[in-house]
Amino acid sequence: MDLQILPVTAPKAQIENENELVFGKQYSDRMLIMEYDRGQGWHSARIQPYGPLSLDPAAMVLHYSQEIFEGLKVFRRPDSSLAMFRPADNVTRFNRSAERMCMPQVDEQFFFNAMLELIRLESDWVPYSEGTSLYVRPTMIATEPMLGVRPADQYLCYVILSPVGAYYKGGIAPVKIWISDFYVRATEGGTGEAKTGGNYAASLYAAKEAAENGYDQVLWLDAKEKRYVEEVGSMNMLFLYDGKIVTSPLHGTVLDGITRRSVLTLVKELGYEIEERALSVDEIMEGVANGRLQEAFGAGTAVVISPVGSFCYKNNCIQLGDGNPGKLTMELYDTLTDIQYGRQPDNHGWITLL
Ligand SMILES: *Cc1c(COP(=O)(O)O)cnc(C)c1O
Repeated sequence: MDLQILPVTAPKAQIENENELVFGKQYSDRMLIMEYDRGQGWHSARIQPYGPLSLDPAAMVLHYSQEIFEGLKVFRRPDSSLAMFRPADNVTRFNRSAERMCMPQVDEQFFFNAMLELIRLESDWVPYSEGTSLYVRPTMIATEPMLGVRPADQYLCYVILSPVGAYYKGGIAPVKIWISDFYVRATEGGTGEAKTGGNYAASLYAAKEAAENGYDQVLWLDAKEKRYVEEVGSMNMLFLYDGKIVTSPLHGTVLDGITRRSVLTLVKELGYEIEERALSVDEIMEGVANGRLQEAFGAGTAVVISPVGSFCYKNNCIQLGDGNPGKLTMELYDTLTDIQYGRQPDNHGWITLL
């Protein structure tokens, strides 16, 4: 398949104040888009001016949520070169999500190269200030106008780019975690493992409840016993418990995060023992009280590492340690961001330079 490149006739004004960038509000001048028709496969791949899509009101995505997405970042380094963190892993996961949602596979090599071509053309949109990046959002939607429930025969796949500010402005800030004792995000056999919009739509109600109580993020427990930690919002959860790293195993309800994967590699190298097991909410609440739970943090592309300052479960709200980010948590945040921004060598082959 050829990749057509269409001209931008009305470029947008460049970013004036990088410190005022709001996550996911501003988009670059171009987008990558390709179309799928069953029988024909993917076709009409092109990089075109960013703009609204034209969809039939009966497009299946609008009714039955056949949709998947990805999220990754481009970092500008001190020498002005551009770097991406494990981008091929995102393309592979995109196809795994597609499989689960009965959507067509993309040609990974073609899609990867086309995405990189888009980013090269839009490289002026990668911000310069410390901690900023260009967020990349690959998306696939079912576009066939049809109200019957079945996998669609037509799809759009596109990639949009959004310059984002530093997540932590006044230093790395611990989050307050609300443990949901009633609502669940994913069930065994469900779609928890796929990066699909419906999982997020289903999570909003509990997130609202958390926000109304002054908490930042919802920690999801397993759907069966409502006892074991799964993950948080758009992050995997990791704990330093009795000196070991504990994180939920990937058994279908938890997203296989690329940041999680990277953290596990780093802590293993630091000599920590890893337990991929279900940590119970009792272990958390008791562990905070008796000190066995030393550190807790979320891991995901948007925030990289997010330290937990406190937990709230069934009206029992407790602070972890002195409420400040733990030593290992900070070390992992520094190591990952140093590798991404080129301040530390990339010994794992994680970086793709553009
Ligand atoms: C994207 C996502 C993550 C984090 O994955 P990364 O690859 O590290 O960005 C974790 N949980 C959920 C539910 C997600 O959607």
